[in-house]
Amino acid sequence: MTPVLIAGGGIGGLATALTLHQIGVPCMVFESVREMKPLGVGINLQPNAVRELYDLGITEAELDEVGLPAKEWALVGLNGNDIYSETRGRLAGYQWPQYAVHRGQLQMLMYRKVVERMGAGAVRLGARVTGYRRLPDGGVSVQVAYADGGCADLPAALLIGADGIHSAVRAQMHPDQPPIHWGGSIMWRGVTWAKPIRTGASFVGLGTHKQRIVFYPISHPDPQTGLALINWIAEVTWDDATQLEGWFRPVPIETFLHHFADWTWDWLDVPALISGGEFAFENPMIDRDPVPTWVDGPVALLGDAAHAMYPTGSNGASQAIVDARVLGALMCDHGATPAALAAYDVRLCGPISRLVLRNRGAGPFGLLNLVDERCGGRFDNIDHVIPPDERNAFMADYKAAAGFAIETLNRAPATIAPGARAAAVPTPEQVDAV
Ligand SMILES: Cc1cc2nc3c(=O)[nH]c(=O)nc-3n(C[C@H](O)[C@H](O)[C@H](O)COP(=O)(O)OP(=O)(O)OC[C@H]3O[C@@H](n4cnc5c(N)ncnc54)[C@H](O)[C@@H]3O)c2cc1C
Repeated sequence: MTPVLIAGGGIGGLATALTLHQIGVPCMVFESVREMKPLGVGINLQPNAVRELYDLGITEAELDEVGLPAKEWALVGLNGNDIYSETRGRLAGYQWPQYAVHRGQLQMLMYRKVVERMGAGAVRLGARVTGYRRLPDGGVSVQVAYADGGCADLPAALLIGADGIHSAVRAQMHPDQPPIHWGGSIMWRGVTWAKPIRTGASFVGLGTHKQRIVFYPISHPDPQTGLALINWIAEVTWDDATQLEGWFRPVPIETFLHHFADWTWDWLDVPALISGGEFAFENPMIDRDPVPTWVDGPVALLGDAAHAMYPTGSNGASQAIVDARVLGALMCDHGATPAALAAYDVRLCGPISRLVLRNRGAGPFGLLNLVDERCGGRFDNIDHVIPPDERNAFMADYKAAAGFAIETLNRAPATIAPGARAAAVPTPEQVDAV
């Protein structure tokens, strides 16, 4: 019997597998897709998550192959003037960089690491976890349906549900959970090869809280052309939230380009940026209402399955990695046991559920709401609209809530000390002998 089964081989599931392997807990990942492919576009890894990847032996050079260190985060008004900007990563004083990466390439990097360290059998592809049954001995039986037909009931000590926003494990744990929550925003995501602007590694959010374009490079520039892969997200909020036509579908760029037709400045041509993309994916901005617990005895939720959140704070993937590491640390204290899961629930479920709701309120983009409220989005001098102290306090507050306040993170000891191993779980015979 494998002690820990993991549903889902996304960033959360793979971070969990690498962590458990590091601390000596055998585990196996069940991933529903038949073949791992580098799907998705850009995501940000905050310094708290990059730190954990380094501790997992993923190097800076490897991250530079799937992304680049971010240098700046900036909000810009429709007049092209800065509302707020700050340095990011090491430039801001963190001991670890923030990375802007290609989501699919990061997933492939982590998958290769799992296979190198644990063997090809550690990730079973084409295997969908459909449910679980708690066993009288305290363990769990995990139901798996295979893509090539057939199904199995596999006993395990623990099941970690890292199966994303449509999690089957969560659906069983919380059968009365409301449907996915959509607040009326649509994002069109794509990538374009273009010259990076500002610092060369800047995240820029431009517009209002109802309509904006967000863009940032996710590759180093090509030495020959100077062009980098720029991830962009064009976003529009509709008052009538019934206009949603589908979830995550590829759409022609012409279907939404008109929203941004006159978004040109001498330093930026948004229509050209969007049109340079080979494809666009239409994604509604969705999340899930928090649930009161992520744990049901020997079963725990992790990553988006636990806390799918709006991407406004750029912390969904980062939090999935941090979840895995906190879980590993608690297994060092309690072994691979339901007690470790219970401690994980106590540590994370409340604060991260609050973060989900905070991101729903626009996260750090909340500054755009303030600008809209106070001057309709038009201003000459931002200091007259939101004084610098208020802007800085707003951002500091968000970072503290999201776990990436600079001093707190720099001072914190490693989540899992080098060489730490999971506490041994006493066998029933050992327990009886006490
Ligand atoms: C294909 C894809 C593309 C994405 N692209 C972007 C993007 O461009 N930008 C962005 O910000 N975020 C994107 N995301 C979401 C982002 O990856 C997550 O928010 C974040 O990384 C947390 O990851 P996770 O591992 O918890 O969930 P996910 O990344 O959703 O991973 C869940 C994994 O579980 C698998 N799975 C689902 N159900 C089951 C099941 N029942 N049994 C077994 N396996 C199952 C899925 O195939 C997937 O590999 C994408 C997610 C996916 C799946």
